[in-house]
Amino acid sequence: MNHSVIHAPETSLGLSSPESDVNNSPGKSPGTTTKPRGKIRRIVSLVLGGIGPTLVLIGFAAVFYFGHRNDWKIPKFAALTGSAEAVRTDWCEEHSVPESICVQCDPTLMPKGPDYRWCPEHGVHNCPLHHPDVAQLKETPTVLASDLERAARALAIAPRKENNSACAVYETRIQFASVESVKQAGVDVELVERHPIVESISGSGEIVYDPTRLASLASRLPGSVWMVQKNVGDKVAKGELLAVIDAPEVGNLKSNLLRSLAEEKLQQQNVSRLTQAREVIAGSLILDAEAALAKAQADVLNAEQSLRNLGLPVQVDSLRSMSDRQVLDSLRLLGIPDEIRSQLDSQTATTNLLPIVSPIDGAISKRTVAPGEVVDPTRILFQVADTRQMWLTLSVPLESMDQLAVGQSVRFQADGSRHEVQGQLDWISTAADKQTRMVQIRAVLPNSDGHLRSETFGRGQVILRNEPDAIVIPKGSSHWEGCCQVVFVRDKSYFDSPESFKVFHVRSVRLGATNGNYTEVISGVLPGEVIATVGSDVLRAQLLKNNLGAGCDCVAE
Ligand SMILES: [Zn+2]
Ligand SMILES: [Zn+2]
Ligand SMILES: [Zn+2]
Ligand SMILES: [Zn+2]
Repeated sequence: MNHSVIHAPETSLGLSSPESDVNNSPGKSPGTTTKPRGKIRRIVSLVLGGIGPTLVLIGFAAVFYFGHRNDWKIPKFAALTGSAEAVRTDWCEEHSVPESICVQCDPTLMPKGPDYRWCPEHGVHNCPLHHPDVAQLKETPTVLASDLERAARALAIAPRKENNSACAVYETRIQFASVESVKQAGVDVELVERHPIVESISGSGEIVYDPTRLASLASRLPGSVWMVQKNVGDKVAKGELLAVIDAPEVGNLKSNLLRSLAEEKLQQQNVSRLTQAREVIAGSLILDAEAALAKAQADVLNAEQSLRNLGLPVQVDSLRSMSDRQVLDSLRLLGIPDEIRSQLDSQTATTNLLPIVSPIDGAISKRTVAPGEVVDPTRILFQVADTRQMWLTLSVPLESMDQLAVGQSVRFQADGSRHEVQGQLDWISTAADKQTRMVQIRAVLPNSDGHLRSETFGRGQVILRNEPDAIVIPKGSSHWEGCCQVVFVRDKSYFDSPESFKVFHVRSVRLGATNGNYTEVISGVLPGEVIATVGSDVLRAQLLKNNLGAGCDCVAE
């Protein structure tokens, strides 16, 4: 209600005068020089210093526009002395609009909608999720059950910045004199939309082989490397030959088996012979022979098992029906695949050959052996990795532990790669790093296309929420007012006619996650509403000014 009506002599004046006035005294509004309003006014001037000229322009534009529209006398300005002396009629200094249309000063001009006050569930005033009629839309929108569920998820997953339930800022309306003055203030608007929002916890990560799918292979016996079949990077199938070791112990074990088989045969014949002569010999002789046979059979089993322990697939039953010569041929190249056998002269080849085969499907990730080298069981010759599945280890902040759970979806992008891989969180460390206060978590990532490589680094995300239809506003279009996060919602009747009030409603909002240029609104606005985006700082400044004037302390915090 602060009127600044200053009468000045009517002199001729160009329309450029207001601008030159602005240039002469930047940062000051017309009222300041002629009618200071004490301490609060000065504070406002200081605070608004940066945008002072803009507000001045708004003021002038408003006066001119309003004057034209209502066929009034155009206000005259005296620039002769260089001081700003304006003729002002019908002007609300506090709200920067003509007094006759100032809805803040005279709310009956534009009755306020219902006041539903604080929503404890969503932490906003006039919660549109519960009271969609507060939306600045021509028709009351329908709030879907999925909207309420999404808001509940968003509030459950992480602590969100709290608004002050006692804050009265949401009752404020910010008015412009005209559409032109909104444009001149540089205020731009955008629709509240639906857009996918992903909320995640990210951290730097490293890819390693899945140790449960990693085989380190050594020779099971000492010997020398007779042949190497595979190189680093070669794909191998389970059971495929990697190398052949010449191990004398293998020859010995085969000899043992041969000898045991011969002994078993001998004792078998002995028992048969004695049994046929049962009538004429002592029973104890038969018992002794049977004991000797049992021992020979045990020796065969032992010899067979010793070879099997080396991975040599010996079939004793079939050997028993063979001639000695056939048995020798069968054992000589035991375990050596046919394609290698064909390269060897089976009559003269050593019987010491011990094949090393891959125990899994995978690829050779390490090879530390060359033909001719002497090896023993303590030395790792090959590492075979099944790379169809890899481990991702991520370091995430200790504070995020409450939000993590095994089974959550994890995304990873290796440095320098555009390929994103998705897997599942399957382990969370029970300890944090002493220095960094980071916690290690692990995900298993599928890698059938081979994009992931061991010991590479990148960024990983644990997906907490993946909301395809979140309610979003442009990032940066909401403001923290000391105790409330607010947006400026354009009145639904804004464009009804030139006379309709050019009003933005202050609405408290609760923000969720931000992805790129989109910020999720948990509650506070609904899709289709129009909010100030670019230049909304002008509205913020006006809000600050209004509330300082009204003595609202929370805004100044
Ligand atoms: Zn007013
Ligand atoms: Zn609510
Ligand atoms: Zn307040
Ligand atoms: Zn407040």
